[in-house]
Amino acid sequence: MNNVFVYIETEGGKVADVSLELLTKGRELADRLGCKLEALALGHELKEMDKIVGRYGADTLWLADDAELAPYRTLPHTAVVCGIFEEEKPQIALFGATPVGRDLAPRVSSTLRSGLTADCTSLVIGDHTDAKSGRSYENLLYQIRPAFGGNIIATIVNPDHRPQMATVREGVMRKEELKEPKHPEVKRVDVAKFVKESDLVVKIIDRHIEERGIDIKNAPVIVAGGYGMGSKENFAMLHELADLLGGEVGASRAAVDAGFTDHARQVGQTGVTVRPKLYIACGISGQIQHTAGMDQASIVIAINTDPEAPINKFADYVITGSALEVVPKMIKFYKQN
Ligand code: FAD
Repeated sequence: MNNVFVYIETEGGKVADVSLELLTKGRELADRLGCKLEALALGHELKEMDKIVGRYGADTLWLADDAELAPYRTLPHTAVVCGIFEEEKPQIALFGATPVGRDLAPRVSSTLRSGLTADCTSLVIGDHTDAKSGRSYENLLYQIRPAFGGNIIATIVNPDHRPQMATVREGVMRKEELKEPKHPEVKRVDVAKFVKESDLVVKIIDRHIEERGIDIKNAPVIVAGGYGMGSKENFAMLHELADLLGGEVGASRAAVDAGFTDHARQVGQTGVTVRPKLYIACGISGQIQHTAGMDQASIVIAINTDPEAPINKFADYVITGSALEVVPKMIKFYKQN
């Protein structure tokens, strides 16, 4: 009762990275609140799930393993998650802001009438005093996310309804295995108890999975280009540098909109969130909508003709000059070394 729950998203029996990131965050929140961390995994033929979630800190694994739960369908998943939540009354419930999480979490929150903050970038525990009533609340979940086109960072609290529910963007939180893994208690869910015949009206007849081939989320090095790169042709030098460094090419929205590169490479609020070891920003001004997607990078190098470019505030190293001259020099250097 009143524990922290994380919805474990699975595809083909494999756990989504964002679920492991949420377990790491959930462990931190549960320790702060002095409660348990419970993982809720739905799917079919889920193997070694207890070991996986135990490595990321779960005390309990709710295992709903049934042919009706894979691939994902809205109604049966909603029925199982709501059924468990109604019985267990979590204080916090976290979902990845993936296509599945974005579909499922609003259904669950509206069924439970609990409220939901979508697309959070940070979660912390804090106290709150209501300005109108003067009533004080302890240990609420601060659900933090960009709002108004990224112009402000909003902190949202839900004092009165439970669970406090949030979806969290992929890649914004660390995923970290415990040194001493947990051995979670496994609770097998009787799926038939929750899923009615009417939840099974949607039948999946065929699935077409498109491999996009570009995954910058897990790249250790990202060489990102902005509008200042000037053209699609100039992006070739970014690919050459990224290849030499064992990385991937990222981009700002302005560069994507100008057709310099593919949308799958866009970093930021409406793109991908990345946390590479090295981020080289070439001709990127550093607007908040962009930096929201890369400010967790370990080391940032900014190459910009403008010494006052906002990206410089995020940079560990600033090179003031044209990327069209600096990048070829870097390529030459790394080819020789
Ligand atoms: P610009 O702002 O045009 O900056 C170009 C930079 O290049 C300048 O700093 C200039 O000094 C420099 N420069 C010019 N020539 C050179 C050269 N030869 N060498 C080196 N530097 C040079 N943006 C994102 O990136 N990601 C998002 O996800 C995103 N989401 C958004 C969501 C909303 C709702 C909104 C309103 C905006 C969003 N944006 C996003 C857009 C964002 O506000 C900026 O417009 C965008 O990031 C600017 O891209 P840029 O820095 O490449 O271009």
